[in-house]
Amino acid sequence: MASALHADVEALLGLQKEDAALHELEQARASLGPKREGLDKARAQLADRLERARGAVLAEEKKQRELQDRIREHKAIHEKNVAQLDVVKRLREATAAMAQVERARRVLAEEEAELIALGRRLAEARTSVATLEQETAALEAAQVEPRAALESEAARLDAELATMRAQREQVASHVPKGLLNPYNRIRTKRPGRAVVALNGASCGSCDTAVPLQRRSQMVATGKVEVCEVCGVLLYAGEG
Ligand SMILES: [Zn+2]
Repeated sequence: MASALHADVEALLGLQKEDAALHELEQARASLGPKREGLDKARAQLADRLERARGAVLAEEKKQRELQDRIREHKAIHEKNVAQLDVVKRLREATAAMAQVERARRVLAEEEAELIALGRRLAEARTSVATLEQETAALEAAQVEPRAALESEAARLDAELATMRAQREQVASHVPKGLLNPYNRIRTKRPGRAVVALNGASCGSCDTAVPLQRRSQMVATGKVEVCEVCGVLLYAGEG
């Protein structure tokens, strides 16, 4: 019965094709976001580790200063005690003074050992910082190229999107408002096919049978109908 497609249907199908291509391009553009986030995340994680390593160095340095002060203080007291030994004459006093000197010597020895261990920890912490600084520099260098590639890809897609959107509006201007509005509504609700050909006697999308009378009218006049079940725009296909 029907031969060529009605002009409105042709225009609608052309618009649908534009929108499909546009959608694909938008997906490609959107996929750049997570790629950039991946690069940012790797950088942030390393920066976080470096910050913590630097914090550890500062903490050990603070402990070292405090311990050095304590040792200085204990040494001064100890020296004073040792000097007093010479002036103590009586045996009881001498015994007590000796015990005090001995105690202080032990404390000092422990503190000196602690200071050595602390120095070792500090050296390790500084090595970690140096290693992480190298890793950071390496990561920055390694990210230069992929970041530049992402940026130029984004610029290319943006330009293509602008062209395609203008082209889409041009195509849309040939579709009658009465069809364009429901078409746009359907597409925003569910991307994918909004304009579907009848499949025999049924909706090409949800397979619901379309009454013969409506079908005949569609074939005869090229009228586009909304499927009452799934909401797509239905048209009678060629032949
Ligand atoms: Zn349907």
